[in-house]
Amino acid sequence: MSKTKRKKILIIYTGGTIGMMKTRRGYTPQKEKFHQLLDAIPELKAEEMPDWEVVDMDPLLDSSNITVREWNAIGTVIAENHDRYDGFVVLHGTDTMAYTASALSFTLRNNSKPVILTGSQIPLCEIRNDARDNLITAMLVAANDWVHEVCLYFSGKLLRGNRSIKYSADDLIAFESPNYLPLAEAGIEIRYNSALLLPPCKGEFSLQILQEVPIGVIKVFPGIQFELFDSIMTERLKGIVIETFGAGNIPGSADALLPIIRKASDNGTIIIVCSQCPHGTVALGAYETSAALRDAGAVSGYDITTEAAVAKLYYLFSRGLNEEDIRARMERSLRGEITV
Ligand code: ASP
Repeated sequence: MSKTKRKKILIIYTGGTIGMMKTRRGYTPQKEKFHQLLDAIPELKAEEMPDWEVVDMDPLLDSSNITVREWNAIGTVIAENHDRYDGFVVLHGTDTMAYTASALSFTLRNNSKPVILTGSQIPLCEIRNDARDNLITAMLVAANDWVHEVCLYFSGKLLRGNRSIKYSADDLIAFESPNYLPLAEAGIEIRYNSALLLPPCKGEFSLQILQEVPIGVIKVFPGIQFELFDSIMTERLKGIVIETFGAGNIPGSADALLPIIRKASDNGTIIIVCSQCPHGTVALGAYETSAALRDAGAVSGYDITTEAAVAKLYYLFSRGLNEEDIRARMERSLRGEITV
């Protein structure tokens, strides 16, 4: 009986708690020890598992230190190996995993292979850990034929990468996808929700390298003194994500914020309105308090996460699109990141 060919997975180890060890200055990522621990997991050599190889990023990082440069480096490893592997598992710290997953969902243009980010809340070196299960299931997901997109796998749930947020600093169920149901749930079996998955892309795969575009995020709060932000709203600022109340509302909009937003918009800054509520969508104009934002030239982020909005701004500016194109694409779903 002929055996079906095993899938080939490339594991890209970027750092994060999953491979950390305790030192006198707290947890830090380790290379050799992590490889020894991986080699000691018998399940990774089981017949049911795909073939795999690991490549380490240099330096290994706590993901709080991830920047656009590391997103480009991870994207480059995937692009250079895209034809040689069936899927990719990116081992990453949890703190910025949702940002990296969002960024890769845009920069890996026309990617149809599973790219699964995972990590853990407890390092693999600890007796009680969530690293082993997250890694094994992420590898099985990366070797399946259903997924054609960038996802985040954590604690039994496969989430669309650009829909995910880190939701808990200490629970093992650390991620949520508040506006999109999980793409798969790993119980006794891994059950894919095929109606939610993206179809394979038709175009040719390519990598978009990101530029360090000057962008910002402002979170609105009661009593916010908008004048303080006037000085950052210069022509240098290419884009700003405003985390508003509820469905896109801001306090006392007409007096304080409006002239500042208008000035930014006149300067060519793209203003994206997101909600502080993880669940639900921005509806500019539903209340008087949000109509002013729209009138001043802001763009609705609908139900986009701040993580995806930031990544999408980097991506669209790095493509060298003009202001009008960027505004139009911000209000459109590129890789399933918003419900319009
Ligand atoms: N600070 C760590 C990181 O993001 C947290 C984690 O991995 O869970 O790299």
